[in-house]
Amino acid sequence: MLIYVDHAATTPLRPCAQEAMLHAIRHWWGNPSSLHRAGREAHEALESARARLASLLGAHPREVVFTSGGTESDNTAIRMAAALGALAGKRHILTTAIEHHAVRHTVEALAEEGFDIEYLPVSADGYVSVDRVAEAIRPDTALVSVMYASNEIGTIQPMAALGALCRARSVLFHTDAVQAVGHTSVDVQRDGVDFLALSAHKFGGPRGVGALYIRAGLPVMPRMRGGAQEAGRRAGTENLPAIVGMVAALEEAVASMDETAARLESWRNALAEGLRATVPQITVNGAPPRSAAPHLPGLLSLSIEGIDGEALVYRLDAEGMAASAGSACAAGSPDPSPVLLALGQTPQQAFGGLRLSLGEGNTDEDIARLLAAIPPLVADLRRPLVHM
Ligand code: PLP
Repeated sequence: MLIYVDHAATTPLRPCAQEAMLHAIRHWWGNPSSLHRAGREAHEALESARARLASLLGAHPREVVFTSGGTESDNTAIRMAAALGALAGKRHILTTAIEHHAVRHTVEALAEEGFDIEYLPVSADGYVSVDRVAEAIRPDTALVSVMYASNEIGTIQPMAALGALCRARSVLFHTDAVQAVGHTSVDVQRDGVDFLALSAHKFGGPRGVGALYIRAGLPVMPRMRGGAQEAGRRAGTENLPAIVGMVAALEEAVASMDETAARLESWRNALAEGLRATVPQITVNGAPPRSAAPHLPGLLSLSIEGIDGEALVYRLDAEGMAASAGSACAAGSPDPSPVLLALGQTPQQAFGGLRLSLGEGNTDEDIARLLAAIPPLVADLRRPLVHM
């Protein structure tokens, strides 16, 4: 039996999402933009999904745009804020040193186009300081983009305080909430965001679908040109089965969120404390076990000195355990994780990254097997090679 502890990379499809998708494929095959009955039925299903998603986020349905996932949502939001900024002569963008590639590579591209990108540092445990953001905002700041929850270390940033700050300073505020939605309470009003990116496959929905919240009042500026779908904000026939599956998955995730969080948190504590007791020179990244610092309940990030995290992932895989050395997008990279370096770790420590991301399908038995398997594998990887 596979022990899957890589839910931050992707999650198994929830049966409720699968059923909703099959229903949509069978019954709502019309084009939501068509005028005839098949089209109208698809349109109604689409708009019902939009209203349900909006209510889960505290948004108005008109503020929800369906996309192909987190990457597209992040790109669209950042490009839109940059274009609005440029129109007003503002070319400064503030972001953090721990963003996902979907944000980081987008702002890097904007730097090549003449934008001034500033990467805010984080504390040694992975938190952004609201005061530092306040000091860094300038009259020409077009956008502040801070990830809601880290895909690598699980820290949850002080969204409501950042949102209030950005609003008070009239700066657009975007958050990559791909790892947060479905796992922790997210509310676009409370959090004061102008843009919020989410992705279905991180909470038991299908891959290749997501959404972007765009606050009402911001202009229509599509990145993709074509038809008038999504109220002109995103051209292209909507992927209705995927959208319906996403919303079914999110409803279920939100309904069981507190109960799931309590279970995942106790496993996270057990893994962190158990491994700290059995593996020398191991660091828990982000919030320590039993800490009140806001964090994803199911994500445990470790740095294990003297090993290559990817080698450990291969060894775990050989024993039927699916984990990750860090972000799935950076797997195979010869460079140490920039996120772990941003915490002040040495490249040596950062190379020894191990991310265990838990989910609803895990069991007490999985945790016990991980606790038994990891220490001898680490000891073996640390043993110097003997040349005959
Ligand atoms: N942002 C974060 C924080 C993520 O973890 C991911 C997932 O890989 C993405 C963005 C990209 O989302 P998607 O895979 O839907 O494009």
